[in-house]
Amino acid sequence: MSLPIYLDYAATTPVDPKVAEKMAACLTLEGNFANPASRSHLLGWQAEAAVENSRRQVAQLIGADVREIVWTSGATEADNLAIKGVAEAYADRGRHIITSTIEHKAVLDTCAYLESRGFDVTYLKPNAEGVISAAEVKAALRDDTILVSLMHVNNELGSINDIAAIADRLRDHQAFFHVDAAQSLGKLSLNLADIAVDLMSLSAHKCYGPKGIGALFVRRRSRCEIAPQIHGGGHERGMRSGTLATHQIVGFGEACALAMDHLVEEQARLQSLKQGFLDAVLPLTGVQLNGQADGWPGIVNLSFADVDGELLLMALKDLAVSTGSACASASLEPSYVLRGIGCSEALALSSVRFSFGRYTSAEELARAATMVADALARLRGGAQQAV
Ligand SMILES: *Cc1c(COP(=O)(O)O)cnc(C)c1O
Repeated sequence: MSLPIYLDYAATTPVDPKVAEKMAACLTLEGNFANPASRSHLLGWQAEAAVENSRRQVAQLIGADVREIVWTSGATEADNLAIKGVAEAYADRGRHIITSTIEHKAVLDTCAYLESRGFDVTYLKPNAEGVISAAEVKAALRDDTILVSLMHVNNELGSINDIAAIADRLRDHQAFFHVDAAQSLGKLSLNLADIAVDLMSLSAHKCYGPKGIGALFVRRRSRCEIAPQIHGGGHERGMRSGTLATHQIVGFGEACALAMDHLVEEQARLQSLKQGFLDAVLPLTGVQLNGQADGWPGIVNLSFADVDGELLLMALKDLAVSTGSACASASLEPSYVLRGIGCSEALALSSVRFSFGRYTSAEELARAATMVADALARLRGGAQQAV
């Protein structure tokens, strides 16, 4: 049995072989295995040096200072730390939080939890392209707003929020601005020296690093206090305790360094892959592109009219794709993100996210487009497809 073509890069990416190599060198007796918090011997210092080198690599990719990077287990934990951390630290100042209806569950479930603890959350509605406007954010601000949490690139649609414009509108307000950048790290150029974001969640495994490691950027100048969510040895300046996972961190750092080296060329390559794929599938009958036409080129979300979603997925079993996001794909519920941009329930149920990246070839996407065309023709039982 041949493996399906992997078109689920938004769910996770394979680890770059250069990253895997660096990670492997941090595990065994001969390698850099010691506890980075061991201050009493050379091996500990070496591990600490590797961790700090990675911190520099991550910080560099987003234009941050090394002292602004707090390691976490991924973007889910970073989202939790940012949102619950601010809520707890500033509950005396206010109990209002602004987010949107199409955030990742790591943000939505955290906000729902805080609602159960007496916080008030406003869920902004995106436009039909999946974008939240800065004006809308500003209009929702109240005197007791302490946090605005919005994603940079949407994981189901690839739509991009103008976080610089939103940050500008928040300048004169006490509210902190948290951005979930799990889908944009290493893909869109990000310079936090120019964007007034206070907190940013990062994840390694969406950009060719390992699963289980991420970071929260905490801007020093913002003097944003974060109540720790994991208590222990006081690692990461007390914000996140736990022995640092040298191999994961080193992998994350290397992934960021590689992303930085290839960001521009990779973006151009994905743009051309996306265009080729769209040229092949959009002319087919009843195919609609969801989200922003000029969103992140590695994510193409398509709705297919007049086909059963489940049958369509079965017909596309040679493609590793998602309906909705990986985290929601266990359920047969229509995607709340697609519903959130006004997609009908029926259309949302027959939508597929194709996401591609570093190792995807034009040839693979051409084959995928052919499979889509064949599946539609078969399921609709006719030969009325345009070619
Ligand atoms: C993948 C993802 C997350 C979760 O990140 P993990 O590192 O897997 O916890 C959060 N937000 C967005 C937008 C994502 O795409």
